Amino acid sequence: MSAANQKSGGTEERSFQTEVQQLLHLLIHSLYTHSDVFLRELISNASDALDKVRFRSLTDRQIADPDAALEIEIEVNTSAKTLTIRDSGIGMTREEVNQNIGTIAHSGSASLLKELSAAKDQDEKAKLQLIGQFGVGFYSVFMVAERVVLTTRAADPGAEAVQWESTGGGTYTIAAADKKDRGTEIKVYLRADGEEYLDAHRLEQIIRRHSDYVGYPIKVAGKQANSGSPLWTQPRSQISEEQYQEFYTHLSGDHDKPLAWEHVAVDVPIQFHSVLYVPRQSPMELLFRPEPRIALDLYVKRVFIQDDCKELLPMYLRFVRGVVDCDDLPLNVSRETLQHNPVVTKIRANLVRRLLALLEKMAKDRPEDYQTFWKAYGIVLKEGVVADHEHHGELSRLLRYTSSLGETPETLSSLQDYLDRMKEGQERIYFLAGEKGAVAQSPLLDAFRQRGLEVLFLTDPVDEWVVNRLEKYEGKEFQAIDAEDVDLGKEPRIEGADTDREQTIELLSFLKKALAERVADVRESQRLTDSPCALVTPKGGISHNMERLMKMTDRQFAPNRRVLEINPRHPVIRNLGAHLEKKRQNAQLEEWAHFLVDYVLLGEGTVEDPQRVLRNLNTIMAGASAHLAGEG
Ligand code: ADP
Repeated sequence: MSAANQKSGGTEERSFQTEVQQLLHLLIHSLYTHSDVFLRELISNASDALDKVRFRSLTDRQIADPDAALEIEIEVNTSAKTLTIRDSGIGMTREEVNQNIGTIAHSGSASLLKELSAAKDQDEKAKLQLIGQFGVGFYSVFMVAERVVLTTRAADPGAEAVQWESTGGGTYTIAAADKKDRGTEIKVYLRADGEEYLDAHRLEQIIRRHSDYVGYPIKVAGKQANSGSPLWTQPRSQISEEQYQEFYTHLSGDHDKPLAWEHVAVDVPIQFHSVLYVPRQSPMELLFRPEPRIALDLYVKRVFIQDDCKELLPMYLRFVRGVVDCDDLPLNVSRETLQHNPVVTKIRANLVRRLLALLEKMAKDRPEDYQTFWKAYGIVLKEGVVADHEHHGELSRLLRYTSSLGETPETLSSLQDYLDRMKEGQERIYFLAGEKGAVAQSPLLDAFRQRGLEVLFLTDPVDEWVVNRLEKYEGKEFQAIDAEDVDLGKEPRIEGADTDREQTIELLSFLKKALAERVADVRESQRLTDSPCALVTPKGGISHNMERLMKMTDRQFAPNRRVLEINPRHPVIRNLGAHLEKKRQNAQLEEWAHFLVDYVLLGEGTVEDPQRVLRNLNTIMAGASAHLAGEG
């Protein structure tokens, strides 16, 4: 809270919010090499204010100065060493000034401050770099100003004009002012080292470089310095990479370079322009808030209409930022009329197609950037497989998984990579769904490894839904390797390990009885080689991974029992069989039976009865150590 101190003539003196004071201190006392950006920030604010007033004037005939030209003027006074930036925008009331310019209202500054306090032991240079990354909006003016006087009058008829003034110290004053016309005027008293900004040529150069996208004329000493048409209506060939980036920063407040962008200009059957950006990163809370937004600004015939347009993109593309400007919508469109509007539907279909193609191109030409993309948004994009059947083809080409044949545990493969590596005659795409560390260790992989068959690891909770939804990729069905009915052809034999059929049959029937409460059945495995046993999903059952996820959301959920497969060629199983033949049923053997199940569960990262596991481990260790002692 800022303390207000009433002075004569309605002048109040107020303290800046503490965080603002810290920020200002840093801005004023450090030599910042990118001070040019203050102009961009002030112009960006003026442009937003003009957008707002233009939108309001569509419906509000009472607005102050309805016929004022929508433009930004910059005036230089070399003798007074001042620079004035004036707009005929929406203006601010006294409360709005206090709220907007006195506290950290804007999210970029808030996250900057968080970073700054994390970097509090670093040198000034590192902190200034952070400022460059986040941008500080209006406050950046104090990099060049020793005093700033802001005079503003809101667009409401009869609104009181106010004057805000500060030297960037701990306080500012706010008072009633005499301003007849609508809008905001910012008078910057330049510091001695900021006098370069009194040079009109220099200003024009900065404007062309950083603010050319602005759709309103920006006049320096009466002369227009920018092209004056919004970036999206300009021909692609005339826009530099830097201009696309400046525009992105203006839209998003993000100073990082976007991963990719697309500039769309369509004439038939409907006329619209769009510039779409894929940010390098988006805060999780933005992507996963309860009511996510589609951060596209909608313009109609160059007039800003609204900034959250759920109709323009499906939710699974909510990481995209950008603008859409359409000539074929009426200026009085409302949220309600946007729904089911055939023009909007067409635009949306076009944007989805372009974006998916853009991502596919990124994946192909810039695999490293695509990895960054996938890590940031893969989980959001996967929602598309469930929500958008029409684009299954495109979406499935964008999916990435780790796999049993990956170069490193982190290496990502596409489904096409998988297909390219498939063995001759292989008919299915094998996968194993489960926890990240556990899947790569699963005994079920033995037989696949041995045959050189690749298994995709589905470690994201939604992954299994996604492949179930897709059913096939390029005609190849997906197959879970922990299903009971995986057919791998003839079983492999372990060299020199003959099995005793009768022993195996007897062991199976013993285990079935001993484990009746824990497993649905016990079978002889056709696929295990190096592991004694595994648990698999019975035919037609819900996969264990799905059950695990259901249990997370519903604690009452009772999972189905799985089938225990044993490997009769494995020494542990053979020894148990031999023991059973000699000793018949006994308590120790029953403990062993349970341990076979617990052994698998441990590998999956769950323990049902830790006490029993410990008891068994104890026995095993005692036996093994006795063996060791005997050897020594
Ligand atoms: P940001 O523009 O990112 O929100 P700023 O610190 O630059 O952050 O500005 C804070 C707020 O002050 C703006 O969101 C806007 O509401 C208000 N503001 C700034 N400049 C103007 C202006 N020229 N006209 C009207 N409002 C303005």
